[in-house]
Amino acid sequence: MSKLLSILGGGESGTAAAILAKKNGWDVFLSDYGKILDNYKIELEENNILFEEGKHTTERILNSKLIIKSPGISDDVPIVKSIIEKQIPIISEIEFAYKYHNGKIIAITGSNGKTTTTSLIYHVIKSTNRKIGVGGNIGNAFARLVLENPNQDCVLELSSFQLDGIETFKPDIAILTNITPDHLDRYQHDISLYAKAKFRITKNQKEKEILILNASDQITNKTFKQLKVEAKIKWIKDKSTEDLLKVGDLAIIPKLLGKHNAFNIAMTVDALLSFGLSFDEIKTGIESFEALAHRLEPVASIDGVKYVNDSKATNVDAVFYALEAIKKPIVWIVGGVDKGNDYSTLLDLVSEKVKAIVILSKFPEKIQKTFSKVVDKIYHLEDVKEAITVSQSVSKKGTTVLLSPACASFDLFDNYIDRGEKFKEQVIRFKEKHGSSNTGSSES
Ligand code: ADP
Repeated sequence: MSKLLSILGGGESGTAAAILAKKNGWDVFLSDYGKILDNYKIELEENNILFEEGKHTTERILNSKLIIKSPGISDDVPIVKSIIEKQIPIISEIEFAYKYHNGKIIAITGSNGKTTTTSLIYHVIKSTNRKIGVGGNIGNAFARLVLENPNQDCVLELSSFQLDGIETFKPDIAILTNITPDHLDRYQHDISLYAKAKFRITKNQKEKEILILNASDQITNKTFKQLKVEAKIKWIKDKSTEDLLKVGDLAIIPKLLGKHNAFNIAMTVDALLSFGLSFDEIKTGIESFEALAHRLEPVASIDGVKYVNDSKATNVDAVFYALEAIKKPIVWIVGGVDKGNDYSTLLDLVSEKVKAIVILSKFPEKIQKTFSKVVDKIYHLEDVKEAITVSQSVSKKGTTVLLSPACASFDLFDNYIDRGEKFKEQVIRFKEKHGSSNTGSSES
């Protein structure tokens, strides 16, 4: 019987899955309609894996026993349609790697807070000198972690697209941070489909496995009632967040800003207690964790004006928590490519805390129109350097200039990292050029 396994997509997950498959006796073919990066090509060649780029050779792919599809490829592309028609099973790299993994898994999904919570959990476990792998939707693919050591415990960040392609994958501890509108273009503009994709994280869990949910999240509550969830549930309530950070006389004092991060920490504490860590170990680990780049990341202080980089805030909910976390007055740098945003949830916070808005985008109209009701000073620019000059000129001591765009970045930047890096670079340059020497670091 054919043991041909075809992989669609030659990025990190496709390449790692190809190598794992080859090591486990599959006859592997990798096909990418676009270009494959050189480092992945070298790896494929070193492992004698047949691959193609710039096309899909349909006959060969349709001869496969199993297909692994990159989460970036939608079901609507012709090759995927043909595979579905021929009824060849399609799974994600996560599902495939799971078949060869024997350690414990903590898996994190949600609309916001995945990377923060994943990195935090990894950091805390690592700080106890236990062996632990981290990956999935960030950094190393799960398949790569399994290649490294199939017995190691892993913390995995998972996107809804990765969860779409699972069948038997069963995390020991799952976290669903929240569900807010995002990526709806891939879910027929139906939030309930997107929510159900997120809940797939618990699909195979039984009463021995743990699912940590956000009790304050409406869509989570609604979807939960519609599904038959068998896992042991731990609901984390917004208002009990502070209590959860305290056990007896011990309180956790994190370096992370904001209520949303207190919530991420509360989920982390619960997950790690279930994982077997002591509260002391958890407290020590959390207190030594610094903010991640591009997520409410303090950059510098120029003459008493603080600059915060929240470039990863690419949806309205993330901005809500940023505005809530930061003391007023705020000069808010916002904008980019709108993903069908409904800004109305921000109006009260903006009206209360934001004294000026700088729209950094090629498409300013919607933001201008929405917020001109509550903010007088609105500027439109298409250059980061100018955005900082304007922000500084309208800020008095004690103001925070917050880059928290609520939008995708590709009108003016390569991606959110590029946007955040350019912002930081220009803030530092501005400080060197214009900041008075006796202010700054002590306030940042
Ligand atoms: P993800 O990996 O899910 O995109 P990140 O941890 O990278 O999440 O954070 C993305 C953005 O969302 C940042 O602006 C961050 O400040 C914000 N954020 C983090 N955690 C939460 C949360 N629990 N609820 C809402 N927003 C959050």
